[in-house]
Amino acid sequence: MTRGTELFSHFEVSDVRFPTSRDLDGSDAMNQDPDYSAAYVIVHTTWGSTGHAFVFTIGRGNEVEVAAVRAVEELVIGLGVDEVLADMGAFWRRLTHDSQLRWLGPEKGVMHMGIGAVVNAVWDLYAKREGVPLWQLLSNLSPQQIVDLVDFRHLTDQLTPGEALGILTQATEGREQRRHDLLERGYPAYTTSAGWLGYSDEKVTRLVGEALEEGFTHLKIKVGNDIDDDLRRLKMVRGLVGPDLKLSVDANQIWEVDEAIDNVKRLAAHNIYWVEEPTSSDDILGFLKISRAVHPVMVATGEHVANRVMFKQFLSSGAIDICQIDACRVAGVNENIAILLLAAKFGVAVCPHAGGVGLCEVVQHLSMFDYVAVSGIIDNRWIEYVDHLHEHFVDPVEIVNGRYVAPRYPGNGAAMIAESIEAYGFPHGRIWRDVSSVA
Ligand SMILES: [Mg+2]
Repeated sequence: MTRGTELFSHFEVSDVRFPTSRDLDGSDAMNQDPDYSAAYVIVHTTWGSTGHAFVFTIGRGNEVEVAAVRAVEELVIGLGVDEVLADMGAFWRRLTHDSQLRWLGPEKGVMHMGIGAVVNAVWDLYAKREGVPLWQLLSNLSPQQIVDLVDFRHLTDQLTPGEALGILTQATEGREQRRHDLLERGYPAYTTSAGWLGYSDEKVTRLVGEALEEGFTHLKIKVGNDIDDDLRRLKMVRGLVGPDLKLSVDANQIWEVDEAIDNVKRLAAHNIYWVEEPTSSDDILGFLKISRAVHPVMVATGEHVANRVMFKQFLSSGAIDICQIDACRVAGVNENIAILLLAAKFGVAVCPHAGGVGLCEVVQHLSMFDYVAVSGIIDNRWIEYVDHLHEHFVDPVEIVNGRYVAPRYPGNGAAMIAESIEAYGFPHGRIWRDVSSVA
């Protein structure tokens, strides 16, 4: 008896929420009480293979994201696994440009993020099948194979397939050396864990001390409550870390454009490296104005940038100096490759967003792939690190001396421990039953 052709058989989708708002972990000017959450999907095949991924949300509405992932299921079930893996570019276009689902964006928001989780889950399955970590799988592809993953629709005025091929071909030189370097030394991290807005001065002081002991050379703190208090806190942290350590600030979109310019100029007295999300991340012209006014402070954004077309404008106009890709905001690996190529073309440093649950685990693969096969650059680049909730993952990130250790396990790092999915399942998991009985 033969096993028959392997087909995608079904999705298992879970609403998983962690009650992080109790300790104000993750709190900032715009998001005061997040419960870090995941619309978590396991894509199954008829042969029993699985691929894991999730969309990150911060609590209420996670059930909407779960529904979005489920809405993609009918487009995938019944497809042959080999055919899909052989042309992941076509698979991406099939989901993203579905003529009916597209109306819900197009290419932005809840539906786009749901498609991203499904795309990422299939990449996880692919990497597991090859027995390699995702960053290695991508780094082993030829320049043409990488170009074929990217949808250049609405990009070609700034980046053509030919230019992308040129960037990737140039980066083939030294790939082996950089791969070796990553396995030896890992990838630099910066930490946000010390500077959440809801933390007391005592807690910030203790956490900054711990971050220095752990070897971090770049810290980020949240700003945007009250500028005088921001200045006071920033001065305190600068005093703790000394004059040379890199210190960035994140306003989480709280300011108007002109207000941002005034405030960043004041904060710059304490030598800040970048200002992140000074205003709405839809406001490309606003960012350009801020960027020109606050130079040499660098301007960063990305965690709320909806798609590659928005990134094209941010990157090609000079509106940002730091490109903060997020593994779960755009439509998965393929679209992030388009963004990495745009950043490489315009010479903008990629420093991923990873403040959330599981975001560190998944986005590290994209930065490592970028270093090996796209930009070839690691200097003055850092992947964000926050130290919560890693214990819920099968392959948690490992940080040694302020650097991400390059993963060696097969897959994309998204797989969550089954007991955690069960216990933190919303609203019926054990943790949420306990929370409601306390409240
Ligand atoms: Mg941020």
